[in-house]
Amino acid sequence: MLINQENMSQLAWDKMADLIPAIIQHHATGAVLMQGYMNQASLAQTLSTGKATFFSRSKQALWVKGETSGHFLNVEQVLADCDKDSLLISCVPVGPSCHLGTESCFPEQKISQQNFLSQLEQVIASRKNDDPKDSYTAHLFSRGTTKIAQKVGEEGVEVALAAVAETKEDLLGECADLFYHTLVLLQDKNIELSEVTQVLMERHNK
Ligand code: AMP
Ligand code: ZN
Ligand code: ZN
Ligand code: ZN
Repeated sequence: MLINQENMSQLAWDKMADLIPAIIQHHATGAVLMQGYMNQASLAQTLSTGKATFFSRSKQALWVKGETSGHFLNVEQVLADCDKDSLLISCVPVGPSCHLGTESCFPEQKISQQNFLSQLEQVIASRKNDDPKDSYTAHLFSRGTTKIAQKVGEEGVEVALAAVAETKEDLLGECADLFYHTLVLLQDKNIELSEVTQVLMERHNK
C-alpha cells in the first residue's frame, strides 16, 4: 500500500509500540541500503520533507539521515507491507548510506545482473561533471553526442564482426563495450535505462 500524509495513521502503530521498521531501498537498483525505525513524527517529517527521517532508539530523538554527514536519503516512494507494520522506502541516496562508508549497510548482498546495469548507470551519471583527464567516461561526455553516437555505431559493428569471425571471449568483450557505450549515450541524452526497459516490457505484454 502506498503511504502518504493522509493515510499514515492507518499503519499498525499500536501493535508496534509506535516504532515501525523502515527498510531503505535504492530507487534504481533495488539494493537494500539500510534499515531504521520510524515513529509517527519521523514518518510525518519524512513525507513532508522528502528526506528519510528515523527515530533513533539510542538518542531517543528524531534523526534526519545525513544531518551530520550530508549523506541524505531523498525519498521517492513509501510503501507499507500487507499487515501495515513494516515500511519499504525507495530512495535516491546522496553518498554512502552506511556510517562505515559503504554504499549499503549490507555490503555483501548480491545484486542481480540486470541491477548491475542500473548500478553502472549510476556510476556513469556521477562522472558527467568530472574532469575528462581523470575518467574515460567524462572524456566521452566532453566530446559530445555525435562522437558518443559514433562510438556506439562502431561497437555495434564490432559485436557483429566478433559474432561471425571471432572467439566467444571477443564477442563478450564487444557486447560489454556496446552496453557500456549505449549507457553513456542514454545518459548524454538524459534518458534513463528504465525507459528502455519499459519499452521492452510493453512489447512483451502485447
Ligand atoms: P548521518 O545521519 O549520516 O549524519 O550520521 C549521523 C550518525 O547516525 C552516525 O554517526 C551514526 O551514529 C548514525 N548512522 C548514520 N548512518 C547510519 C546507518 N546507516 N545505520 C546506523 N546508524 C547510522
Ligand atoms: Zn508485516
Ligand atoms: Zn551501516
Ligand atoms: Zn569494441
